[in-house]
Amino acid sequence: MPETLIKVDLEQSPYENDMVHNRWYPDIPMVSTVKPGDDFIIETYDWTGGYIQNNDSAADVRDVDLSTVHFLSGQIGVEGAEPGDLLVVDLLDVGAKPESMWGFNGFFSKKNGGGFLTDHFPQAQKSIWDIHGMYTSSRHVPGVSYAGLIHPGLIGCLPDKSLLETWNTREVGFIGTNPTRVPPLANPPFAPTAHMGRLTGEAKDAAAATGARTVPPREHGGNCDIKDLSRGSKIYFPVYIPGAGLSMGDLHFSQGDGEITFCGAIEMAGWLHIKVDIIKGGMAKYGVKNPIFKPSPIKPDYKDYLIFEGISVDEEGKQYYLDVHIAYRQACLNAINYLTKFGYSPAQAYSILGTAPVQGHISGVVDIPNACATLWLPTEIFEFDVMPSAAGPVKFDTKGIDIPLSPDLM
Ligand code: ZN
Repeated sequence: MPETLIKVDLEQSPYENDMVHNRWYPDIPMVSTVKPGDDFIIETYDWTGGYIQNNDSAADVRDVDLSTVHFLSGQIGVEGAEPGDLLVVDLLDVGAKPESMWGFNGFFSKKNGGGFLTDHFPQAQKSIWDIHGMYTSSRHVPGVSYAGLIHPGLIGCLPDKSLLETWNTREVGFIGTNPTRVPPLANPPFAPTAHMGRLTGEAKDAAAATGARTVPPREHGGNCDIKDLSRGSKIYFPVYIPGAGLSMGDLHFSQGDGEITFCGAIEMAGWLHIKVDIIKGGMAKYGVKNPIFKPSPIKPDYKDYLIFEGISVDEEGKQYYLDVHIAYRQACLNAINYLTKFGYSPAQAYSILGTAPVQGHISGVVDIPNACATLWLPTEIFEFDVMPSAAGPVKFDTKGIDIPLSPDLM
């Protein structure tokens, strides 16, 4: 059995576990150092550190303190890794914690987090997804079940001081262009809820003041939320500091392209079985700036899709120039509207798009003025015929079940 280098106790606060951290900072101490070629197990909390509960209320999604996330397991040091190398990470396997065979999907309140469709779903909502071996289904979303494409939403190496400064300068500057926006444009460093692993005392305070938040993907990878970075993948990460300092978390049992529901995919606590290696000088040798990876040889084999198109004209009919974000939003809204004709609530349809192995494609970015994005909905995940026909949609009986909603606090 490979050694478990980081254990997490889901009954314990992640702030009490010094092998966990929630900011990026170059001096976060390694909790363990391995050799190239070693394989080992890392356990992780769900991204909120256990804040979201398996129940039928969305109050926790509404109230979660988003300055506390993401709780990551690390850092793992790799002997001989130096700035400019590529760290080769084989995701040999990924799974849920056996004592926690469930995950959550939610939409944040527009006032606390927001999300891709926050203007359409401004209040907190949550669905719970049970994990049955390789399959998942939800008591809040009947009529649908699918195989998991399990992956870490977040994984990457520590930045060096210069890269950290670059991140903070550009993101704080960006916030300055519209500082009162709700939800905000980005999240600046925030010391009060920073967990800096094994850093203590003055060193911890200094690091907490400038440690980068974990929300955006950046040059090192980080919170990329790529569903295809699943078990069996091989990833090549840029290395910035001696020892590399690999951290990971935010495991997803399944997710649609875009993680459009933001809180999030099917979020779960779990474990990763990993092997590491090094390519000396690999960043320059291969011209690598952001991570590159090879996907898993194994994935859910859904072959049949109903594909929704969207163009860069928004809900009010306003024209945008080749804007893929607007076009994908329209494709998603078109899919949600379609699914409601079969008996789903808009929230249930949104949750399906956020959690199922839905594909998102940039289909055209040259045909001025409209970009075209497509959303690929696998038809085989439904227990009923979801295709259009001359007879019209047969309403699926959802038996009054819906996704819990928690009104905003006044
Ligand atoms: Zn996530």
